[in-house]
Amino acid sequence: MVPVKHLGYDVKMPICRVLRSVSPRTTWPLASSVRAYGVDTTEPGDGKKTTKTPMKADVVVCGAGLAGLSVAHHLAKKGVRVAVFDKDCVNNAHSASGTCMGLMAAPSFFADRTMHDITTESVKLYEQLAHKYRFMYSKCGRVYMASSDLALWNSRRIFARSHLINQDAELVDDQSDMLARWPMLDVENLQAALFSPDDVVLDTAGLCAALASEIRANGGRIFEKNAVKKVLIGDGNKVFAVATDGGLVETRTFVNAAGIWSSMIKLNTPMAQTRIAMHPCTYTYLMTNALPNSGISDMTPVFVDMDKSTIFRATDYQTIISGFHQNGISALNLPNNLQSDWNMPTGDWDKFYLNLKNAMKRCPSIGQLDAGELICGAEGYTPDMFPVLGEYSDSVRGFYVINGFNGKGLPYAGGMGSLLADWIIEGTPNRDVSKVESTRFLDLHTNPQYLVERVPEVASKTFEIVHHSHQCQTARNLRMSPIYHQLRNKGAVFGEIMGYERPLWFTNDVDPTRNSLLTGQDPLCGKPDWFPYVAREYEACRERVGIIDMTSFAKLEVGGSGVVQLLQKVCSANVDKPVGSTVYTGMQNERGGYVTDCTISRIADDKFFIVAPTVQQLRCANWLRRWIRETGLNVYINDVTSMYTALNIVGPSSRYLMQDVTGQNLTPTEFPAFAYREIDIGMATGIRAISVTHCGELGWVLYIPNEVAQNVYDRIVDAGQEYSALHAGYYTLRHLRIEKFYVYWGQDISSNVTPVECGRTFRVDFGKDFIGRDALFAQTETGVNKRFVQLLIDKHDRERDPWPQGREIIFRDGIPCGWTTSATYGFTLGCQVCIGYIENHEFGVSPVHINSGSYEIDIGNKRFPARVNMHSPSLPMVSSEHPIHYRPTQ
Ligand SMILES: Cc1cc2nc3c(=O)[nH]c(=O)nc-3n(C[C@H](O)[C@H](O)[C@H](O)COP(=O)(O)OP(=O)(O)OC[C@H]3O[C@@H](n4cnc5c(N)ncnc54)[C@H](O)[C@@H]3O)c2cc1C
Repeated sequence: MVPVKHLGYDVKMPICRVLRSVSPRTTWPLASSVRAYGVDTTEPGDGKKTTKTPMKADVVVCGAGLAGLSVAHHLAKKGVRVAVFDKDCVNNAHSASGTCMGLMAAPSFFADRTMHDITTESVKLYEQLAHKYRFMYSKCGRVYMASSDLALWNSRRIFARSHLINQDAELVDDQSDMLARWPMLDVENLQAALFSPDDVVLDTAGLCAALASEIRANGGRIFEKNAVKKVLIGDGNKVFAVATDGGLVETRTFVNAAGIWSSMIKLNTPMAQTRIAMHPCTYTYLMTNALPNSGISDMTPVFVDMDKSTIFRATDYQTIISGFHQNGISALNLPNNLQSDWNMPTGDWDKFYLNLKNAMKRCPSIGQLDAGELICGAEGYTPDMFPVLGEYSDSVRGFYVINGFNGKGLPYAGGMGSLLADWIIEGTPNRDVSKVESTRFLDLHTNPQYLVERVPEVASKTFEIVHHSHQCQTARNLRMSPIYHQLRNKGAVFGEIMGYERPLWFTNDVDPTRNSLLTGQDPLCGKPDWFPYVAREYEACRERVGIIDMTSFAKLEVGGSGVVQLLQKVCSANVDKPVGSTVYTGMQNERGGYVTDCTISRIADDKFFIVAPTVQQLRCANWLRRWIRETGLNVYINDVTSMYTALNIVGPSSRYLMQDVTGQNLTPTEFPAFAYREIDIGMATGIRAISVTHCGELGWVLYIPNEVAQNVYDRIVDAGQEYSALHAGYYTLRHLRIEKFYVYWGQDISSNVTPVECGRTFRVDFGKDFIGRDALFAQTETGVNKRFVQLLIDKHDRERDPWPQGREIIFRDGIPCGWTTSATYGFTLGCQVCIGYIENHEFGVSPVHINSGSYEIDIGNKRFPARVNMHSPSLPMVSSEHPIHYRPTQ
């Protein structure tokens, strides 16, 4: 028996009595059928504190908002004994769900595949529940109004995606047609109005009540006026109980769905407070009487001004107006504990005024409405505009989070609740969760000051379509390599990844006072401003030598007597190679999908140096830790990401430049490809050189100890003059690797893609036992449903046509058959180049299937013919190894 105080939790009876009656070490599987449990007899929803709470629950969910109810519903439906606790009540007036306007964007709004799929699932769920419980659910559609070119291209992209789910979306580009259909609008300067028919308005209170009824009907319990006070962590850092206002609940699994209060959930560990990369901001809207115009009904679409971030919904009984002008949003500070008096912010007319003005510009009759009620709620926003889902931390087992919906709670909650429920039951996510998984964030992302600076900007994008090239302007310059200022002085334009500033490209502008941070996003149509600079850098990397800062990459050292055994188990390639070897490998999950890809260099018999994608810093380490735990092997992990500056020396002259600075012979025999050596450069020692450039060119990445990085960098740049070396940025790397058909994790491969599907079976060693082997082997036997291809686009006018960005729809013989994942302009191939997946879930995708189709890609609602490659194209280059010359097109 573990006395309560030994667990760091000081409580009085009757909680102690409850705890004593259960053993924290007891294990029980998640129930496959609903069983009666607990001693509680109080009916949930009676508004009183319960004194007898259930003693056991498979899962305790904190928060009865959209998130908590959704996950509890999906769990209860699958027979899991779930108990939901809310400090207030279902759909209470202080919660985001209780103030939600009920507007739900259709799946076609979401360019990201994961979010698209999640939203599709939400729609299905809400539609079913609305039918069963008869709450207001109006498929009235939405009109996206576009005056700027960017908004125009965005609306065209939504239009293209809508073909995947329906054929009814309409793009109206004639102003008189717009007026004929929506006479209440002022259509001046509108270039297009996209009618998206699948957008919905629903009664969020009705939805929450329906979810609550479903939970109860499936044996789940909801305890209102019953706050979660602390989550108790016991042996093995596992959740074993949850302390609530009404008593203690024994559970192995806790879900933090406490909305903006999520970071206030306490733990009985030294790190007593939960730290989540989410922070509340105000969300304001005006609710007033009906517009005077005739013909307005429940089926009148919602209107969004894409250029002004303003939205309004008019029915025959009320009008709702909202907007996200950045100056009108405030980050909020919560009290230190739940007991303090904390009132929701009140609506600020001065701040809201601009939104009202923007709405009146598009719908002048709004000016005739009563002042109405200005409603202000609080919503959780995250640094990168995606929600937070999954295991809270590697050091606490059984603690999950679901929050940070960034103003899109309705599209996300249903599908994400289902995803998390499956995750809890199966122990691992069954889909690609890289965009939403909580472990994409580091502790730095939970810093309150960082969040307060960043989230109002994120909130300002609530109604906007933000492409993956988007760069925020706030909370920048947080992580910088030691050579940041040298690079800046050479003209670097920086973009942020994981808080790191990395050069995207180098301009001619080397004015030290200039703003060198890229903000906003790449244009969607026509040649971007950076094009000539990237063309120049590309040429240097392919013809001479380029120097690329790769410091942001995640770097781990793993060692110990069990390290080879561990890595052989988690890696699909054979990493048991001689000291000095480097292996490119995937770490697969049980389904064969990529948990990550990485290069692994053996630096001693029992020590390896792992380099993984920047966004994998925590995830890769967590995966290794998980398998150290499961295998009990003697292995340690050191995250050395911040100890090394990484320079990628790329191109045919890289060998000569490297020989000059090292004074060593670096012939292919001395230092072959895929090798690791520790080298000196000038006076500096301890530099880790790996002959893998991540873009298919000859070269080395140097991992330089930070304190000598400036010295080494200067020496390389000086020596590079003889070879006309140029600085190059991440965009050049992207151009190089996409042309060569190289995949990048997070963009082209994920936990949902296997090496067989992406054509990397040759890297897998089936002769050894590793995680995911059986799944991969089965795929090699039975074939796959999707296949990674390269698509070369024809008949594309580089100056005038929209540019592919990744996330375009691929058509085979006129029928949608997949999505692109990355895109770039191929300087050597002389055309736009996309990579992505061709899918066929019915009959599978064989090489014959691929080669027998004719392909098009929809870019901004314009279809272009495309040629398909299943293997890397032959790209001539000038180097000792590849003597054929070529000229990059410009
Ligand atoms: C004004 C406003 C309008 C919005 N309009 C829209 C819209 O039109 N469309 C859209 O898609 N999204 C909209 N959103 C966003 C959407 O409402 C939210 O994303 C969503 O409701 C969040 O749900 P949640 O369950 O995470 O949080 P919440 O709904 O806030 O629920 C969290 C719950 O946790 C409870 N809780 C907190 N701490 C504890 C504790 N210690 N113990 C027990 N219980 C606890 C709280 O009482 C609360 O009930 C809007 C948000 C706001 C603020």
